[in-house]
Amino acid sequence: MIPLALSEIAQITQGTAAPGGDGAVVAGPVVIDSRAVTPGALFVALRGERADGHDFAAAAVAAGAAGVLAQRPLDDRALPAVVVDDTVAALGRLARGVLARLPEAVVVGVTGSAGKTSTKDLIAQILDRHGPTVAAKGSFNNEIGHPLTVLRADAGTRHLVLEMGARGIGHIAYLCEISPPRIGVVLNVGSAHIGEFGGREAIAQAKGELVEALPEDGTAVLNADDPLVRAMASRTKAEVVTFGRGADADVRAADETLDEQGRPRFTLVAPQGSVPVTLALHGAHAVGNALAAAAVALRAGMTPQAVAEALTQARPVSRWRMEVGRTPEGVVVVNDAYNANPESVRAAVDTVAHMARSAGGRAFAALGEMAELGGRSVAEHEKIGQHVARSGFAGLVAVGAAAAPMIDGAGQVGSWTGECVQVDDVGAAVTALRERLRPRDVVLVKGSRVAGMERVAAGLLAPA
Ligand code: ATP
Ligand code: MG
Repeated sequence: MIPLALSEIAQITQGTAAPGGDGAVVAGPVVIDSRAVTPGALFVALRGERADGHDFAAAAVAAGAAGVLAQRPLDDRALPAVVVDDTVAALGRLARGVLARLPEAVVVGVTGSAGKTSTKDLIAQILDRHGPTVAAKGSFNNEIGHPLTVLRADAGTRHLVLEMGARGIGHIAYLCEISPPRIGVVLNVGSAHIGEFGGREAIAQAKGELVEALPEDGTAVLNADDPLVRAMASRTKAEVVTFGRGADADVRAADETLDEQGRPRFTLVAPQGSVPVTLALHGAHAVGNALAAAAVALRAGMTPQAVAEALTQARPVSRWRMEVGRTPEGVVVVNDAYNANPESVRAAVDTVAHMARSAGGRAFAALGEMAELGGRSVAEHEKIGQHVARSGFAGLVAVGAAAAPMIDGAGQVGSWTGECVQVDDVGAAVTALRERLRPRDVVLVKGSRVAGMERVAAGLLAPA
């Protein structure tokens, strides 16, 4: 963070500086975990469900924190503190205030139902070649992670790449108040969190808050292949740049193929020129993410050649997203266990079907539940079962009770000759798969975070 006196922090956050902080200057990082404190840090005390950060304020100062942002007076009044009404809101105000002092940092916001982290990581890897870039770590995309990311920027930062998540109307608008975006990317409107939202239109309404926040000289990067995203063009003052597979998209892919590992190759076609791209990422859905990232980078002034080179060298940053491994016996394990919703499961199933065909092996899927689908849960799981069967998989292992309707769905596809297995836990899934898998088979492992399906992948890859 840029150096700030505790008195300035009090002013920006509309808080009160305790006398213990007279003359203190924060020059280190802003942290919410006292164990992460380094000298000069600002420790923000949050009240969680299990722990209260205020209990760790003294430890944070002992570890070198220059100040504490707290929402009640600390027991030890001599500690350097700024007391505010609400530390989460104050964190947002602080990020907003700091960003206002960094006019050269261009904010890029990324939202969508699936692919935010993957695309944010791609954009950051490309833009970093163009100028110093700060990007969210992992899925830091809420009212806490977002301002913490903004606060990592300093005077040298040229691009700030932020993931914006929404669990309801107004969430993205709030994040955009903290960090007014210049470029906004909307990837897709799917059914993630549909249980909380109630419907796709409501999800589109929430995601579109990103393009509503863009200024006239900003750019909305919209997925032309998704009708609900394309329609967002009418909600922005900014210039619109579309990306997608269709011929009418401004930035599109031509001659798209997948190699036997599921890695895409395509020609990036943009108004600025056409260039070949080979991705080290797996899955056809990575093409859409790459096009979105390319649109941002071209807008930021990079040449098509530089963008293609950066895309070709980009590597997956965040774990458990289409990670391809191989067992000693030669079974390919595709670990996409980070998360799951209907769109991302379909995308992964399609990629694995392709990989198995190219490898001359069979496709299997071990799928845990897709959480947060509310009343649509059973129907959505059934549809995934149908999709797996129609894609010609040799076997479907459904893990846990909530995933069981997938088996019913697969059974509804009369022409399917594959095998269904229902198991209660990940251990049983590993056993069931080991009994069936042969060299050259490709197995997809995926489920929502709660399902912990990465343990199935680890079990398969561990020596027997
Ligand atoms: P979260 O809301 O959990 O933060 P996210 O939007 O950040 O998710 P990622 O973490 O990038 O999404 O990817 C989640 C899953 O979706 C992974 O399994 C990934 O392979 C898959 N995925 C990535 N991009 C797309 C896409 N464009 N369409 C469908 N699935 C995708
Ligand atoms: Mg994410």
